[in-house]
Amino acid sequence: MSNTFLGMPSLPVFGSGNLNATEPFPKAARRELANTQLRANLGHATATIRDKRLKVVAELPDWEDMRDSGSAIKDATMANLPALLEQFEANFTVRGGVIHWARDAQEANEIVTALIQATGESEVVKVKSMATQEIGLNEYLQEQGIAAYETDLAELIVQLDHDKPSHILVPAIHKNRSQIREIFLREMVDVDPGLSDDPARLAEAARKHLRKKFLSAKVAVSGANFGLAETGTLTVVESEGNGRMCLTLPETLITVMGIEKLLPSFTDLEVFMQLLPRSSTGERMNPYTSLWTGVTPGDGPQNVHLVMLDNGRTAALADKMGRTALNCIRCSACMNVCPVYERTGGHAYGSTYPGPIGAILSPLMTGITSEENNSLPYASSLCGACYDACPVKINIPEVLVHLRGEDVDSTRGKVKVPTQMDLMMKGAQWAFSSGSHLNLLEKGLPLGKLVAGRNKVIKKLPGIAAGWTQSRDIPAPPSQSFRQWWAKEHKPGSAVGPGTTTEGEQA
Ligand code: SF4
Repeated sequence: MSNTFLGMPSLPVFGSGNLNATEPFPKAARRELANTQLRANLGHATATIRDKRLKVVAELPDWEDMRDSGSAIKDATMANLPALLEQFEANFTVRGGVIHWARDAQEANEIVTALIQATGESEVVKVKSMATQEIGLNEYLQEQGIAAYETDLAELIVQLDHDKPSHILVPAIHKNRSQIREIFLREMVDVDPGLSDDPARLAEAARKHLRKKFLSAKVAVSGANFGLAETGTLTVVESEGNGRMCLTLPETLITVMGIEKLLPSFTDLEVFMQLLPRSSTGERMNPYTSLWTGVTPGDGPQNVHLVMLDNGRTAALADKMGRTALNCIRCSACMNVCPVYERTGGHAYGSTYPGPIGAILSPLMTGITSEENNSLPYASSLCGACYDACPVKINIPEVLVHLRGEDVDSTRGKVKVPTQMDLMMKGAQWAFSSGSHLNLLEKGLPLGKLVAGRNKVIKKLPGIAAGWTQSRDIPAPPSQSFRQWWAKEHKPGSAVGPGTTTEGEQA
């Protein structure tokens, strides 16, 4: 059987919601760099997680093989995504779950809101979820008169402080414990006024605060780490047990999951359950792994929904080199090793996804022409530490370079007034296009010596080149170029023949 489609194929739908930065990275980074408390908190926290990760990874002699397996499974998943999604839907539905498809953040928010409203409830408890951060669900629910309570400790801290997460795994990584104590004292109505900043006391205060919510909530909203196409099973991996409470106690469970989170089979999970905890928290095994397959009569939520979210993932999948970013399992190892992230923190990236993975994922999902996100691929020194740390071997530096190329290409033909870089490139093109042009230019070399003065260094260059001299000097250029020297030394009648050298200045 063949189908005939009329009309033009539709363009990929780019992502919306909290994927877009509100200002370019260089501007935001400059502001964040001035926050010395943030830098101290981040430096300490990332160094601790880095060390833990290195120790547990070194315990496994087949770690590299495992990374290869993880990478191969995710590549195969992306290559076969449409069929796997259909397989997942069939298995999830046959076991009593209901699937909803959302093209973008707005659609996903509307679906979740309608599902909550259908229960008659106005409060929900939430399991930590990047997908719901991405679509701005909490804010949307608030506008509709529904209160969403984060139950992960770090998410709770961020929510109480009316702040934004700055790290995928540790959303409050930018806060230290005395700052957390202040937030609890200020925002928790039932908190002990004598609360100390001892981590155990802070955790206890959060537990007491949340317990009432867990016991009374009729609806929970979660994300999912993996969806298993073979069985229609969803998985949440966590450390605190708050997720288990949300996934089992309420009557209605609504999960929002990106379409790329699928794994083909149950046995594939074995690889990821070794890669993920070691790469994220530096643990051999995470304390709580919850799996559920549709509805189990008389056990757990009886009303189970799943919102499958695109929001720019199909657009990323269409990018042959960039699609590898969809292999990400959100472990956060790349940000913990990134020298740029460690100094600027997560807020500078603007999008829900910070650090090296955010620098490629956000522009891929929103399109590189998105004005704010097109600076993200430049937020890297291309040192490659993220690639080395990534458990699924996403070659982030390669994708960064690819996206920089896309960014340059996207501005081609649009710029009316040439930039300084355009003029410099034009000048270089002219100079290197002919020997006589280069000769002419080389005649200006003594001018450089003049600018350098007696110290023989140039301390300040103008315009776009000023960045180069901001932190280093340029030595004075030689008074003649190599070509000038060669021509002089080898002109007919010269005492110096080929293969001999003279002392003195050379280019
Ligand atoms: S890109 Fe790799 S290292 Fe970074 S969060 Fe994703 S899986 Fe982890």
